Order: sequence, then C-alpha cells, then structure tokens
Amino acid sequence: MSIASHELKTPLTSIKAYIQLIERMENKQPESKVATYIHRAHDQVSKLDGLINDLLDVSKIENGKLKINKKPFDLEQLISGVIETIQYTSAQPGLKVERQGALIAKEINGDAFRIEQILINFFTNAIKYSPGAEKVVLHTSVEKDHIYIGVQDFGIGIPDHKKKNVFTKFYRVEESSVQFQGLGIGLYICAEIIKQHNGTYGVESTLGEGATFYFTLPTS
Ligand code: ADP
Repeated sequence: MSIASHELKTPLTSIKAYIQLIERMENKQPESKVATYIHRAHDQVSKLDGLINDLLDVSKIENGKLKINKKPFDLEQLISGVIETIQYTSAQPGLKVERQGALIAKEINGDAFRIEQILINFFTNAIKYSPGAEKVVLHTSVEKDHIYIGVQDFGIGIPDHKKKNVFTKFYRVEESSVQFQGLGIGLYICAEIIKQHNGTYGVESTLGEGATFYFTLPTS
C-alpha cells in the first residue's frame, strides 16, 4: 500500500504543477469553459491528493511510523483558520459554521498539523453526512486538565450499535455507504493521532437527528 500510494503521488504532483501553469497563463479568460474545467480538475486533484495522503497515513500507522511532532501552539488560531477554510471551500453553499463555548487561551502541546487534520476531517464528515443542512456547530470547553472540542451536525446520525465501529479501519455504516463516497479511514487516522496525544475521542448521535464527534487533549 505504501509503494502504491507513493506511485500515485508522483504523477499527481506533476498534474498539479501543470494546472498551476495554465492558471497563470496571461491570456486566460475566466468566463470561458477552460476556466471551469481547470477548476473542476483542481477539485478532483485535491480529492485524489486527500485519498492518497489518507492511504499513506494508514500505511504509516501500520508500520508504527506515524510520527507526532509535539510543540506548543495556539489552538484558538488554528480553529479560526479551519473554520474560515471550511466556510470558503464547503461544497454546501450558505452553510454556517457556528462557534459555541470557551475560547482556548492556553497554548496546547501537540502536533498542530495533525490536530488540524482531525478538525478538517470532523468538519468534512459533518457536512458530507448532513446534506442540505444550514449549519454545523463547533463546541469547545476548557477543563482543569484537558480541553474538549466537538463538531456537531444535524444530519443522518449513526445507529446506536454502530457508533463503536466508526473509528475502525475501513468501517463504513452500510445504510449510508451507497449515498456517500468515502474509504472509511479518516476517523481511524483521527483516532490514532488523538491516542498519540494521550487524548480521548468518541461520538454522540441520535439517528436521523445528527451527530457530535469529539476529542479531548490533555493540558497538563
Ligand atoms: P468515510 O467518510 O470516508 O466513509 P470516515 O472514517 O471518515 O470514512 O467515517 C467512517 C464512517 O462513519 C462513515 O462511512 C460514516 O458511515 C460514519 N460517519 C462519519 N462521520 C459521520 C457523521 N458526521 N454523521 C453520520 N455518519 C458519519
């Protein structure tokens, strides 16, 4: 899997570079079909890039090579950045990301890049599994020895007896797997990253009403 992922990654890097060159061409006409197609190609390449990165992460986890580089960082700033990105790039136009709870004033000792990956994953799922919804909500709280972050959606939810499985490698809830695309590895990777930070994670959900995916990180 590791070799396959690397092989897939090489041509993808060239495609990205060529698309960037075309975009920078001076006589590009934004209104033309060319611009639309370039935009679509970009989207697809990003999706492919995401899939390959996820596959690479799975192979790293299996080989004990998913390394976490912990250092103090400003989680509040990271959260604002992620919310902005999600709002601008969401496939669901008009979707609002609401923020509820305490601001995180303390610096967190962790791998900022990997924590961002978890947040993006929870948000992407929240949006994907709540088609047509108007909002998703980010909840934060600061406790004595840990911080809590939860991403709540108002979508399809998860049946009770399947909740414990969603963080397992390649697991997808079969009732929804036909309607929504995915590999079933995003949450597995998130779980591994959280474990390596000595945090906890889980999901609360009522079928048909939505889900809240959450994690905690120790602060002392
Ligand atoms: P993927 O979304 O690529 O299938 P994930 O590992 O991110 O993989 O999620 C595993 C499964 O958990 C999904 O296939 C879906 O069945 C379920 N799931 C994840 N997030 C949500 C959510 N916000 N609402 C409902 N179901 C979800």
